[in-house]
Amino acid sequence: MKIAVVGIGDELLRGFTINTNLAFIGRSLVAEGLEVERSYVVADTAEAIQGGIESALGAGCDLIITTGGLGPTVDDVTKKAVAEMFGLGFKESPGVLRDLRDYWAGRPGEMPEHVRGQAMIFENADYLPNRVGTAPGMVFEVPDGDGARVVMLPGPPPELNPMFIKHLLPKILSWAGEGRRHVRTVVAVGLPESKVEALTGPLLAETAVSAAYCASPGRVNIYLSGDDSTAVAMVEATLREALGWRALPQGVDSLPEALVALLAERRLTCGAAESCTAGLVAAAITDIPGSSNVLKGGVVVYSDELKKRLLGVPDEVLSSHGAVSRECAAAMVEGLLTRLGVDTGMAITGIAGPGGGTPEKPVGLVFISVAVKDSAPVVERFNFSGDRRRIRDSAAATAMTILRRELLGAG
Ligand code: AMP
Ligand code: MG
Repeated sequence: MKIAVVGIGDELLRGFTINTNLAFIGRSLVAEGLEVERSYVVADTAEAIQGGIESALGAGCDLIITTGGLGPTVDDVTKKAVAEMFGLGFKESPGVLRDLRDYWAGRPGEMPEHVRGQAMIFENADYLPNRVGTAPGMVFEVPDGDGARVVMLPGPPPELNPMFIKHLLPKILSWAGEGRRHVRTVVAVGLPESKVEALTGPLLAETAVSAAYCASPGRVNIYLSGDDSTAVAMVEATLREALGWRALPQGVDSLPEALVALLAERRLTCGAAESCTAGLVAAAITDIPGSSNVLKGGVVVYSDELKKRLLGVPDEVLSSHGAVSRECAAAMVEGLLTRLGVDTGMAITGIAGPGGGTPEKPVGLVFISVAVKDSAPVVERFNFSGDRRRIRDSAAATAMTILRRELLGAG
């Protein structure tokens, strides 16, 4: 199956809206062993919309997914443009009408005519229910199109996402039949992308499995795919063995999730003392459901004064080594354990930039200290690169990686 996505909307071309629908569709399909082959983004005019679909058909795509332009507003011309292009008539869908009445129930007044108009779908189309908004999705076969299909989805992600997963994906999987690749994901933490590639790349040689690497601060996702499910599973196992503790457990796709699970399993609490990350660690942990079982809390100690007052960092440490120092990070984590009474702690102090760097202490210099009660704390020094956001994200991810490493006894 050759799949194309046509994003419709002036706002996409003008940069006011980021094309997250493409990202969502692409990711969802890759997870099922299918891939978007090409994508077009077009303006809200009949000519541009028809041109986008024609280009996809001309390129031999047999599944064309359009997103956007289905609303009842004047700039939404998609339905009319597509009907005209393929010479399609309309019918009122009783199913959509019923959904619209349900949607309208409880709202004041009669259902307006333009809402009822959303029940008009192409005569040859099936509809995809929309439980969030009023625009149904549509699926139809291109007349005389050698079995090519067009699917039209509404633009707002809260409408498109559930419609895609619940109603469209099962159809796509049945259309694709056996023509899908088998996919597995391995998440590696605590190594830069180049090292992950160097370590895992050779393991893929002479296999019929391909890997795609995708790095974000603190982690690298390795997407394995191949036609033979046994081969993919074997490569996955080899990679996991080579990565050791650095591979997150199967089915766990984020570092905070792995850390929360590990702490919960050990019945340990944690806390964070954060200077330059100012709560990123605590926020990442609290993104995980069930984190209240492990996270006791944390402190944001940006100023020297609060490092002293809240964590008991000695004056002497600050005056002779400075706030961004091995000694300060160690004192911060010690204060965290004694004053907050947590079992494990992470402390972060560094220079996120863009200002404030010196030759001895450049932007990106970060000290991270991690302590697990009843064992000696560790302090490590890092020189992270990138902008302020990236340095802070890297620092937060690295703190969680070190705590996980210490808990696993893999230091
Ligand atoms: P529309 O269905 O074209 O009226 O779009 C309605 C809303 O969905 C607008 O707020 C758009 O910004 C948003 N939207 C449309 N297309 C996309 C897209 N490709 N990615 C993310 N949001 C989108
Ligand atoms: Mg629009």
